[in-house]
Amino acid sequence: METRDPAHGISLLRDPLLNKGTAFTEQERDALGLRGLLPAHVQSMEMQAARVLTNLRSLPNDLEKYVALNALHDRNEALFFRVVIDNIDEIQPLIYTPTVGLACQRFGQVFQRPRGLFIGANDRGRIAELMRNWPYEAKLIVATDGERILGLVDLGANGMGIPVGKLSLYSACAGIHPGLCLPIMLDVGTNNEELLNDPYYIGVRQKRLSGAAYDELIEEFMEAAHAAFPEALIQFEDFASQTAVRLLGKYRDRFCTFNDDIQGTAAVALAGILSALRVAGGKLKEQTLLFFGAGQAATGIADLVVSAMMAEGLTEAEALERLAFFDVNGLVVQGRDDLASHTLRYARKHAPVHDFVDAIRTLKPTAIIGAAGVGGAFTRDVLGAMAELNTRPIIFALSNPTSKAECTAEQAYRATQGRALFACGSPQSPVVLDGKTYVPRQGNNSYIFPGVGLGVIASSARLVTDEMFMAAAHKLAELVSEGDIAQGSLYPALPRLREVSAHIAASVAAVAFQRGLAAGDAPNDLLALVSNQMYDPRY
Ligand code: NAD
Repeated sequence: METRDPAHGISLLRDPLLNKGTAFTEQERDALGLRGLLPAHVQSMEMQAARVLTNLRSLPNDLEKYVALNALHDRNEALFFRVVIDNIDEIQPLIYTPTVGLACQRFGQVFQRPRGLFIGANDRGRIAELMRNWPYEAKLIVATDGERILGLVDLGANGMGIPVGKLSLYSACAGIHPGLCLPIMLDVGTNNEELLNDPYYIGVRQKRLSGAAYDELIEEFMEAAHAAFPEALIQFEDFASQTAVRLLGKYRDRFCTFNDDIQGTAAVALAGILSALRVAGGKLKEQTLLFFGAGQAATGIADLVVSAMMAEGLTEAEALERLAFFDVNGLVVQGRDDLASHTLRYARKHAPVHDFVDAIRTLKPTAIIGAAGVGGAFTRDVLGAMAELNTRPIIFALSNPTSKAECTAEQAYRATQGRALFACGSPQSPVVLDGKTYVPRQGNNSYIFPGVGLGVIASSARLVTDEMFMAAAHKLAELVSEGDIAQGSLYPALPRLREVSAHIAASVAAVAFQRGLAAGDAPNDLLALVSNQMYDPRY
């Protein structure tokens, strides 16, 4: 029976947003009814964090580490985030990619405690009621329907690990208070037979809603979320490609929303290109980009590059001329009857080309961007052709996981005698070539989405625009140090993430104020505005 004030006694110890565990002081123990409920020794937060790390490092595998960190998250949020923030390099891969993928696959087995809201296929007509069951304020919602978890598989309700993990990154990397974060699973069913037959599966046991029934549920969700939390930013995550593009188009001008798989990826890739141009020289509008893959990620990047080229003075037609795509059926050209609607604007007037090296020799790109999920597609011939055509070829192998990367950093540097300006989609190790060490860095969306979220929330922006993502990309490229550039890194070091996020948030907020999308007048110091809101748990 817990009838007492949640900020008191046993209820306090069981409230993860308030609990400090053994760190409650002698005075607090007396004042808050904790005397006797805790062991005698008062431990500092630093000691607690050290203990957590020691225990974590002794665990045999990453899934167990994920489970242990999740349990800490459910027990003591301040300590959890202290550990994550101070050890972001080590912990990010455990609470998000790649471990979260495995955790979602086993979600039914490792499930201990619900977090966030589960909105089911059968909740149509009462979503507003479900929203009212959430006991906190929400300023940031991450929602998934679990259809394409980490761009890979339909995991239905087991995909809840993604919004939970993503929101942890928002809190850790941009200081968005965890009490303002709401993970949502839109449990519309799953077409994954294995899960439907799994006794431990946690979701609605039916095939996915589709067509009008699916759209009506999403519409009701958007309306209800906006009514319940009018200031909340709603981020879509891991929807199927076509659905993601469609929902973004449908809602981006009506609600404060964005899709990280599309727009976050785009901004991080654009930032990488802008960093590469700090070395290669030349303007973005002078580049020719050839994409390998024409899916959600590639066309999302291209859409933002077109906007950025237009901001440099090109017309839309001129910008489109500078981009080309090569997909599973060859060069994306007019007259092909297999093109998805979001690819049509990029279909060139050109004869069909079925070989990627031929496409490179014909189009003479300054950059090739791999986002097709085909491991090893950037062969020696591909890389060699780029090296012949360019002094500093830009080569991005963005496909995940590592086994699907178009090439390794080592292959890119070797084939170009160290001239490649390289970025990857999964972390890769440094490469030593002719006595020089190259440090390739991952085009990780974590450089962008936390800062965008913070900027939008801090300025109470009504909408999230492409211009905000452009501003974020320019700022990220600026934040890459000379030292980074000298060692071939096109992105800053991950431990700088909070500083990076604060600067990105300030530039996003600046756009919101300039465009009249923010609440009130712009303060003089936007960096102070966002920095002052950043959660930095200490006790
Ligand atoms: P998608 O399914 O929407 O698109 C895949 C595209 O690849 C399609 O256009 C398809 O025609 C093309 N393709 C498939 N086989 C091919 C082949 N043999 N030759 C040429 N093209 C081929 O997928 P998506 O969401 O766009 O993701 C693509 C890849 O990008 C994934 O591996 C994903 O992990 C990666 N990605 C990376 C980041 C990042 O680094 N930040 C972000 C998002 C996605």
